[in-house]
Amino acid sequence: MSTSCCSELAISLPSRVSFPHSEAYNLTELSYWSTQEALLSPACIVTPTSSEEVSTFMSTVTKITNCTFAIKGQGHAPAPGFANIDNGVTLDMTSLNQTAINDNKASASVGPGSAWVDVYRTLQPYNKTIAGGRNGAVGVGGLTVGGGISYYSPQVGWTCDSVINFEIVLASAEIVNANATSYWDLFRALKGGGNNFGIVTRIDFNTIDTVPLYAGYLFNPANQIENVLGAFAGIAASPDYDIHASIVTSLSFNSTSKTWSIVNIPQYTLPLSNPPIYAELFSIPNITTSTKFSIQNISTLSAEPPFPQEYQLFRTSTYAAPSITDASSLLIDIYHSLNNTLTTASSAVSPPGIGWSLALEPLPSKFTARSSDSIFGLNTTENAIIMLFSISWTNGALSAAAHSLAQSLLKDMDGIAEARGLLRPFRYYNYAGPEQDVIESYGEKNVQFLKRVSRRYDPDGVFWRQVPGGFKLS
Ligand SMILES: Cc1cc2nc3c(=O)[nH]c(=O)nc-3n(C[C@H](O)[C@H](O)[C@H](O)COP(=O)(O)OP(=O)(O)OC[C@H]3O[C@@H](n4cnc5c(N)ncnc54)[C@H](O)[C@@H]3O)c2cc1C
Repeated sequence: MSTSCCSELAISLPSRVSFPHSEAYNLTELSYWSTQEALLSPACIVTPTSSEEVSTFMSTVTKITNCTFAIKGQGHAPAPGFANIDNGVTLDMTSLNQTAINDNKASASVGPGSAWVDVYRTLQPYNKTIAGGRNGAVGVGGLTVGGGISYYSPQVGWTCDSVINFEIVLASAEIVNANATSYWDLFRALKGGGNNFGIVTRIDFNTIDTVPLYAGYLFNPANQIENVLGAFAGIAASPDYDIHASIVTSLSFNSTSKTWSIVNIPQYTLPLSNPPIYAELFSIPNITTSTKFSIQNISTLSAEPPFPQEYQLFRTSTYAAPSITDASSLLIDIYHSLNNTLTTASSAVSPPGIGWSLALEPLPSKFTARSSDSIFGLNTTENAIIMLFSISWTNGALSAAAHSLAQSLLKDMDGIAEARGLLRPFRYYNYAGPEQDVIESYGEKNVQFLKRVSRRYDPDGVFWRQVPGGFKLS
């Protein structure tokens, strides 16, 4: 079927289809962030350059019932099959990558195949930005339809909350604009509903003013883990969260040396050194040779060096942070549980060569309360913590061990939170693993809403039958 599908596409979009072993095909395969995703081999790759070409793509692939396809932005979702496909067609959206600031500078129109760094570079001369991804290599399309956490999220909410209009190609191949007054239900569903409703071809965002940010990397010695977790809890559970602050605190375990390392990545969206919110964290002994802070523009800050392609696995959970004491003791117990398993497990269970990282980010109520009419089902009056458990390795023979241990470690962590009444249902789309129930985590009312929207705009179920990748409406 994929062969006839690719032959049809080569007729309807002659110069946009590439086949295995061609340069264009290989470039797309090399651009994935995770090895598992890059190892999939589509029968052909289609690279449209306009919404009309995406519409032609859609009318071609829906003529052939078993023509399965994947939609790819910048390819940063680690799970295999989310943005690539074996023997199907991969639609590589990266040529839809233009950013244009609109006349009054209050909004900008962005191609969903863009990398965030290019958006920031285009808007920087106007001292404007969009509340988008922190790592500039990440894609606009995937990050936005999954939600999107930005340095500016405590000020303006999820990245999807900054969207004022999605241009989208529906299963019918019609190009429509979904916004607050037209296709309002589709507009709402796209803010976290992933690739279940259509192919997004342009996103209009509200812009915000930007000034240089205070940002850096703070490394602490491993004997400071409990103090660092306590200081992180003090920020995340703060009853008066400073909306200019955002931080990722990561504990990484090297399974070869059996040692932990700590890196905090605190940011402040004003050019202010040592903001008071970080006082406790900054008072903890750090590794001065590697700790570095500076004040720089978002366009420079987001231009991080590329990561080498490796096997990658994400898992996520959400924990409530009702008080500093609750949050601190939860995180310290989670760390001890992880440490106990990772240091004592046999090398068959926890083989050398796998890197384990527990990344913690505050999800303060000031952030979640910015969303009007969100589908995420979050309690917007409570402070919480988003946990991203990410695992990486280079030797494919370790994949089964990495998956199996990740699953049991996550179960242990969630069990500790659940026993204290701090486990929350929300699983963040962009940090979740393929076995996690992301859409279900939004709650029954929101799931029913998303299903109604799907039935309305995709009555034949093209986006669940023909697009297997991503978190699906079951
Ligand atoms: C190094 C790194 C840094 C990250 N930093 C952040 C961060 O700061 N904040 C944050 O919230 N997340 C972050 N993430 C997670 C990131 O948001 C997700 O990995 C996201 O899926 C990446 O989007 P993409 O377009 O690059 O991915 P892709 O893998 O190309 O796509 C991801 C999913 O979105 C769908 N999709 C993509 N484009 C479209 C479209 N045009 N129409 C319909 N569906 C589409 C795809 O089908 C796929 O299922 C980071 C991830 C990595 C690896």
